[in-house]
Amino acid sequence: MANPPQAFVTRKQDEDRVRDFHHIWHPCTQMKDYEEVPPLLIDRAEGIYLYDREGRRYMDVISSWWVNLFGHNHPRINRAIREQLDKMAHVMFAGVTHQPAIDLAQTLVKVSPPKLTKVFFSDNGSTSVEVALKMSLQYWLQTGKPQKTKFIYLKGGYHGETLGALSVCGIGLFRDKFEKVLMHNIEVEGPDCLRCPFGLERESCHAECFEPMAQTLEKNRESVAGVIVEPLVQGAAGMKMYPPVYLKKLEEACQATGVHVIYDEVAVGFGRTGSLFVSEHHGLNPTFLCLSKGITSGYLPLAATLTTDDIYQAFYDDYVSFKLFIHSHSYSANPLACAAANATLGLLIEPGFMDRLEPKIKTIGREGECLRDLPWCGEFRQTGMIAAVELVKDRDTLEAFPIEQRVGYQIFLEGLKREVYLRPLGNVVYFIPPLVIEPDQIATMMTAAHESITTVLKGT
Ligand SMILES: *Cc1c(COP(=O)(O)O)cnc(C)c1O
Repeated sequence: MANPPQAFVTRKQDEDRVRDFHHIWHPCTQMKDYEEVPPLLIDRAEGIYLYDREGRRYMDVISSWWVNLFGHNHPRINRAIREQLDKMAHVMFAGVTHQPAIDLAQTLVKVSPPKLTKVFFSDNGSTSVEVALKMSLQYWLQTGKPQKTKFIYLKGGYHGETLGALSVCGIGLFRDKFEKVLMHNIEVEGPDCLRCPFGLERESCHAECFEPMAQTLEKNRESVAGVIVEPLVQGAAGMKMYPPVYLKKLEEACQATGVHVIYDEVAVGFGRTGSLFVSEHHGLNPTFLCLSKGITSGYLPLAATLTTDDIYQAFYDDYVSFKLFIHSHSYSANPLACAAANATLGLLIEPGFMDRLEPKIKTIGREGECLRDLPWCGEFRQTGMIAAVELVKDRDTLEAFPIEQRVGYQIFLEGLKREVYLRPLGNVVYFIPPLVIEPDQIATMMTAAHESITTVLKGT
């Protein structure tokens, strides 16, 4: 284990702190790690910075788990929440509606692909996926095709960690231990551009790797309800990126075989790729669109599953037919969260905002050049405001560092010493900063990553 940064050593002696956190079981964390390096105690946040109790700051270059778009403590979003708070914090969402939800649904329909006209609210990304899966299954049940009960998902795909979402997860780390109880869905080999089996380039290929999906769809058309993918960027797989042509082929094949298309834009939606949504930007027409994360700019939990009128109509009937859709959450469409989302969308669709991302996207590419030159750089990749460097032991064979070496964890510790909160996914150091990051901050972020990587890997 690397020496903990100095900041931790002093804090380790802070008995109060230790008492503070030891009842908590943190997500995605081996709690034993905290014996040596306790979690950061973040006290406040401002713009793209997190501040601990001693006033040390850390640049939040992964947007607090990919949710924050406009920086922390944003005056307009704060105000929207406060104003809503003074009126009503929460009300149930069956038999009741409210203005923040009405406004939000209207905007979402306006800015998403044209065929998506209905919005179903829930409160986290995994659930937005659960809702899409359940709606798809129930649609087929109610339209005379009850045998359509399976979903196709991509290897490397990630859609959340509830059991339904895990059953369409293509990453062993998350699903393996629960394999026995998961739904029997179908995993398909997806795009793997860095290690492309056809030796082609992402920018010029025709998604030759679509063949396994085409065949699987053809063979299982009778039993498949839908296909679920993360468009363009497979986030949890390590920001793996693939070209839009794959999605075009997918929609055509699904259309031809009578299968629903579910786009999970939980991570890539709301401007991350340089356009509001991947689906809208590329003229795609999914049956379901799952949204969460950036929807409230990281303020409050909220999610939406958008779908078409065709799906909606299959549920519309007299009560006694029992065609209603049942997925009820206590906090569905929470008004404070909807108010935060309305403020967020207001900022996103302000004239010129998306255009102003263009130069930042170029800066990320330019400043990222230093990572491309690292002797351990397997690939530096970028889609809009998302970038990643995949570190390898050997550039020619692309041999990975073994998991025991904990390269990512050590880079995380080095990043903290440089006031940058990196949280690598295995051997992939990635950047998904708030959209409001400035060019000089992008430069600082890339330099810190370069130094951290070099410090950890020199001599390996
Ligand atoms: C994070 C994520 C989810 C799950 O969202 P939660 O709010 O964490 O449940 C689902 N799909 C994708 C693509 C994600 O990145």
